Amino acid sequence: VDDPVDHKCTYSSLAINLGGQLKSAEAIDYFLKKKLRVWCWIPAAKWECGKIQSASVNDAHVLMSTGNILRLPFENIWPANPEVQDNENDLALFSYINEPSFLHNLKCRYSQDKIYSKAGPVLVALNPFKDLSLQANNSVGENPHVFAVVDQALNEILRGGKNQSIIISGESCSGKTETAKLAMQRLVAIGSGDVIDFEVLKENVILESFGNAKTLKNGNSSRFGKLNEIYFSEAGKICGARIKTFLLEKSRVVERAVGERSFHIFYQLCAGAPPCLKEKLNLKTANEYEFLKQSRCLTIENIDDSPKFQLLMEALDTVHITKDDQDSLFSMLAAVLWLGNICFSTITSKNQVEVNIDEAVANAANLLGCEVDALVLALSTQTTQSGNDNIVQKLTLSQAIETRDALAKSIYATLFDWVVVQINKYLQAGKTYSGSSISILDTCGFEVSHKNGFDQFSRNYASERMQQHFINHLLKHEQEEYTLDGVDWRNIDFPDNVDCLNLFDKPQGILSLLDEESACSKATDFTLLNKLKDQFLGNPCFKGESSSFRICHYAGEVLYNTSGFLKNNREIVHEDSIKKLLLSCGNRLPRVLGSLGSLSSSMQSAATKLKDQLSELIQLLENTKPHFISCINPNSKQLAGIYEEDFVIRQLRSFSLLEVARITRSGYPTRMTHQQFVERYNFLLMENTPVMDSLSTLVAVLQQYSVPPGMYQVGYTKIFFRSGQLAILETARAST
Ligand code: ATP
Ligand code: MG
Repeated sequence: VDDPVDHKCTYSSLAINLGGQLKSAEAIDYFLKKKLRVWCWIPAAKWECGKIQSASVNDAHVLMSTGNILRLPFENIWPANPEVQDNENDLALFSYINEPSFLHNLKCRYSQDKIYSKAGPVLVALNPFKDLSLQANNSVGENPHVFAVVDQALNEILRGGKNQSIIISGESCSGKTETAKLAMQRLVAIGSGDVIDFEVLKENVILESFGNAKTLKNGNSSRFGKLNEIYFSEAGKICGARIKTFLLEKSRVVERAVGERSFHIFYQLCAGAPPCLKEKLNLKTANEYEFLKQSRCLTIENIDDSPKFQLLMEALDTVHITKDDQDSLFSMLAAVLWLGNICFSTITSKNQVEVNIDEAVANAANLLGCEVDALVLALSTQTTQSGNDNIVQKLTLSQAIETRDALAKSIYATLFDWVVVQINKYLQAGKTYSGSSISILDTCGFEVSHKNGFDQFSRNYASERMQQHFINHLLKHEQEEYTLDGVDWRNIDFPDNVDCLNLFDKPQGILSLLDEESACSKATDFTLLNKLKDQFLGNPCFKGESSSFRICHYAGEVLYNTSGFLKNNREIVHEDSIKKLLLSCGNRLPRVLGSLGSLSSSMQSAATKLKDQLSELIQLLENTKPHFISCINPNSKQLAGIYEEDFVIRQLRSFSLLEVARITRSGYPTRMTHQQFVERYNFLLMENTPVMDSLSTLVAVLQQYSVPPGMYQVGYTKIFFRSGQLAILETARAST
């Protein structure tokens, strides 16, 4: 924010009317004479409002709202919108579209609890950090609202339009998950009425227990991405639903930053399991488990884990997970916790490990339903084949720890998948997925933490792919369509992330290099780093450093440490022995898990799997009409009523909301082919008009109703209207 020049505003001839600085003397003079408000960039104090008093060649005296008079260079002075627009609910309707105006408007609205605004087609949602008691069946009138987005999507499918998607993005703690819940509540309020209890989708208790965790930024952070597909009958009733999840941050089970927690479920289980279950699982309190206590954070302020466990059990009942399966599920969770307490001793002379035979290993084996020996073997040895012989080798200490952690993570990830499968079975309950659908996507947002490893790398790659979808729809295709159809259109620049994406997923990009190194047994995280540095030397999106590399993402630069990259990407290291172990277990669930997809697709690296998953997701979204919701976190304190400008600006920029609003403002949002136009409005022509070709008919209709020439453009194949212009013809049509 310390740079007053809007770099994106390079189209100087349009600069004034689209809200760029008042660079010319004429512009300054206009604002001076008309006594119009201006925004001033005052480096230490940020944006302040004022009125120009006098001007010289390059600078002006401005009377600030504080009463001070400041002398400022022209490039620090920006046009402000008239006061009547302070409450404007669509940023694209501003006379001047610039950052200070956006910031000011959102701030005014936020202070009145108006958390929703539009930027053209995008709904902007600020996190209120307090309960606004939104009732899902209330009417929201013309106001921007998440409910209005849902209503619009539903109306479109009821009118026979294509499938719809509601794509919710934003950084951690911006309110994506809460917004997704509100959207679900609205859908259920309007569309329920069938046999299945879709209420279960609203609160999302099960997936939040298993997939959310306390992080430093958010006490209830989603550590996975989620797509809810909701199917509707022709009567507009929900007739089925399906949940897809991706990018579960399973490493959280075994490690995370100090001050953060593992997934909620572990603490809920320890705190809330009824006595008989506690006894059966030999369950201790959370602070006795290494996996939980290591990050020195066991509770969340104002949250009691124990009643949450009761809610979870009820939710599991609701989706018809049997008591037996629930028991199995809890045993597996307890087994994961005990795995973390398993210790190793090294035989110094040989650099080989032995598993300490203690309560931890006994409990883990018991809960999994396998022999202690089998578990010990899986954790301390590795079997390789040489000809017809199996060679059993002892692992080193670090290999053994890695195997133990890999086992814990795999069990957890497969449990998570299993739970999703069970919920889907319940939601589907004999229905077929047909008819129209609305998909609600709660993405996992861009993330920069203190130390960024493979998880952040994966997450931010996913975030780039989602950003590209956003850019393509709102900025790129929109403008391309004008140009292709011969419309007079001055291109509006926008920050494209295609170079950064190419860095990741082109042949010879980072992902393929990562896979190459992962397949090579001699490679290390260090050789990987060096290869990356060689390969991408000079690439503007990549910077190599001594022990890490930097990527310039659309939302900012991130420094990644390669330590752990190969291990995490290979995923498969000891999975064969893990799978064998699970399949041999007496407990039913581990066997089911052993045969589940997540373990069997072990030939794929984590990076390839992620890339495929994302391509599938984007493909699915490409076949829908998207509605975008950009969630914004107004402050870093997770508190109501605080609006930090720097914080908001950064997010507005990463969403390219200024560009979206500019394109909307200068654009022609309504369009149809000449033929469609003629079919719809031909009959409005006065009688005895001679029969003409479609282009002439079209022009005749427009002239008859005096649609002003600046309000539409006729392209080669389509006619494009400015926002609201079609109303003239529609009104005429309705009254004829
Ligand atoms: P993450 O990426 O970490 O999952 P998120 O964007 O999903 O973050 P949420 O978990 O939805 O963020 O929101 C964080 C917190 O902010 C919530 O726990 C809640 O306290 C508050 N919050 C968010 N949106 C709303 C809302 N619409 N009304 C009331 N409180 C909200
Ligand atoms: Mg979330």
